[in-house]
Amino acid sequence: MHLNRREFACLSVLAGAGLAAGLPARALARMQSGQTVFEWTPVCNGGMAVIGGGGNSLVIFDREEAVIIDAKNPGLGIILRIEAEMMTRTRPGVLVNTHHHADHTGGNDAFTPDLSVIAQRKALPRIEAQIDKYRESLGRPITWLRETGVSYAETAADALEQQAANASRKKASDYKPGRVVDESEELRHGASVMQLTHVGAGHTDNDLFVHVARRNVLHTGDLVFEGMHPFFDINGGAESVGWEHGLETMHRLCDNDTVVIPGHGKICGPDEIMTQRDYFQRCRDAVQKWINEGRSKDEIIDTEVEEFAHYGFQRGGRTVREGLYLELTAG
Ligand SMILES: [Zn+2]
Repeated sequence: MHLNRREFACLSVLAGAGLAAGLPARALARMQSGQTVFEWTPVCNGGMAVIGGGGNSLVIFDREEAVIIDAKNPGLGIILRIEAEMMTRTRPGVLVNTHHHADHTGGNDAFTPDLSVIAQRKALPRIEAQIDKYRESLGRPITWLRETGVSYAETAADALEQQAANASRKKASDYKPGRVVDESEELRHGASVMQLTHVGAGHTDNDLFVHVARRNVLHTGDLVFEGMHPFFDINGGAESVGWEHGLETMHRLCDNDTVVIPGHGKICGPDEIMTQRDYFQRCRDAVQKWINEGRSKDEIIDTEVEEFAHYGFQRGGRTVREGLYLELTAG
């Protein structure tokens, strides 16, 4: 795969902004091998899901520009941006954050200098408040990058090592979106049209899901964790009834062929949205039963709901049971 003149030009801009310190010339030449750090999967005409390195991303593109949904873990934004150019043969134009968590916003710093970054209004103070988390996590992907076996990842890891050593220079504004959505907004970008929707508190208090109706693709953000326990962010404003409401709202937008990109897990279909809704209902019933039996909060958190005992991300299951306990015992 060869980078065209515009791709090189864009990457020079990035290098000039200090974003790709140590990355360009040598690494870019290696990139032409066509290997990628992330797993890129076409999901529709002009749409690719990007798996690995944090929450699942989605790239929607026309002939000119791309809209990127979610920016992965700290340190990986530059790779997402460069690979998006390589894979779509276009220039990223806009980045959307589905919510504030660092595995979806950690790469924002590769986009904020020159592109629009959009998030729900309540995400902004939370993003600013987690600057230490971004700084501390910058070096984490280094080993993973080196182990991908992708030729340029080695050079990207070297660059990241430098950035991590100077993490204190990162500012909250490097990650802060410049555009906000309150409830719902149609995003038109060239031939790409999508609806950004916030239905209230769910996984956090600032979730957005992204529906690309013309291409029948839906990015759920972390309102759907496919095949695993979700993370229930009590301090981030999570709310289980609101979460279910969000899931039902999303499901109504789908038909049998809708491609669903969950925040985590495999690309799936609309059934998985209802599976997530049912998960909360079953867990709530179980927690209520245990409360009625007089079990303690700690005991409830420690007890798996049997039918989900095989799910991955057990720590997430603990947050769900704690959240439901708090909701069900609140004044
Ligand atoms: Zn999340």
